[in-house]
Amino acid sequence: MKTFEQIADLERRYLLGTYARYPLVLTRGKGVFLYDLDDRRYLDFVSGIGVNALGHAHPRIVKTIREQAAKLIHVSNLYYHEYQGALAEKLCTLVSRPPAAAGSSEASMGACRAFFSNSGTEAIEGSIKLARLAGHRVGGEAKCRLLALEGSYHGRTFGALSLTGQDKHRKGFEPLLQEVTFVKRNDLEGLRAAVDDDTCAIVLEPIFGEGGIYECSVEFLGECRALADRHRAALIFDEIQCGLGRTGTILAFQAFGVAPDIVAIAKPIAAGLPLGAFIAKEEFANAISPGQHGTTFGGGPLACRVALEFLAIVEEEKLLDNVNKVGRYLNQELTAIAEKSPAAKEARGRGFIQGLNLEVPARPIVDDALAEGVLFNSTQDTVIRFLPPFLLEEKHVDKGMRVLKKLLKKKRKEAA
Ligand code: PMP
Repeated sequence: MKTFEQIADLERRYLLGTYARYPLVLTRGKGVFLYDLDDRRYLDFVSGIGVNALGHAHPRIVKTIREQAAKLIHVSNLYYHEYQGALAEKLCTLVSRPPAAAGSSEASMGACRAFFSNSGTEAIEGSIKLARLAGHRVGGEAKCRLLALEGSYHGRTFGALSLTGQDKHRKGFEPLLQEVTFVKRNDLEGLRAAVDDDTCAIVLEPIFGEGGIYECSVEFLGECRALADRHRAALIFDEIQCGLGRTGTILAFQAFGVAPDIVAIAKPIAAGLPLGAFIAKEEFANAISPGQHGTTFGGGPLACRVALEFLAIVEEEKLLDNVNKVGRYLNQELTAIAEKSPAAKEARGRGFIQGLNLEVPARPIVDDALAEGVLFNSTQDTVIRFLPPFLLEEKHVDKGMRVLKKLLKKKRKEAA
């Protein structure tokens, strides 16, 4: 087997320099654990930034991939296969009939249709293209303006980047789409002032992921809903990071009680295979015609069948109950750390999308946690972000928090 140095050196020589990777080569995983080249074990609080919700090497996912790979991996969207319509039906049912779960409300999208992409970013691109078509239909060419939130993250293609309210991602790539207005999260006045009849979409993450785990208030989401209705604009929720179970409800909007017109999802949906989707209410969905949007890979038989299996496992193994229970425990622990540790400020989020805002830089803590056999992740310089697999148990939280407390104490001592 190659050494760490050989692997890192090849990348240094041949890859675009886009990633500041941790010095770790991962070779295999099982459940909530990952293993490196020396077969050292790491407890995973990252899940591939929210992708590996079923942990690693889930036996049902492995079996499904094996079976389907031997039958049919790809067919062009020129043809039908068995699983794309079935997955769309399942997703449309989920957004329209929220399962009774702790904290869930009756927010429902009603009759819907889905489109499958290869990534979250593409799901956002498709969503805003659809909103433009629907907007033009009711308000002509002028109805093209998009509203997004400061501090948000929606992806890195030109459309998604134009909606991303963070200079660090936008810098160097201007000009972006010109028709975007940004308002502050939870700023009702700013929101009211920014939406008018030329607005075709309001796009937001109900819980900011990359932005540092900040929630939109129910009041703010409700006002977005009311304004979108009044001005016949599409309310688009980016649930790529916070959706599909992470909040303890299958869609985050069910926890907030406000339904969007279009919801974008991706990350965990095909258990690690690339798949994204946007799901649109019928009155928006019917604005598009054959030939106006499409993709080569999106919605193939392997990814769609695995996604159906993913959703079945989440239901049958009652994983949302676990996310709620262990998420509450994680939140208690993080809140206690925020109260007691001078190096920590605030615990935010819910379920398995949580963050701890620190008084000190977060990345060195994440670096040091590697030596302790724990994978954390940081965002926005001072936030440690927790996006664990839905299989995480309280004993794993205990291990993670032990390491975190030890490292926070160490940082305080170094700073003193
Ligand atoms: N929106 C949100 C909220 C995200 O968290 C991400 C990915 N971090 C994206 C969009 C982009 O998704 P992808 O990387 O799959 O294109």
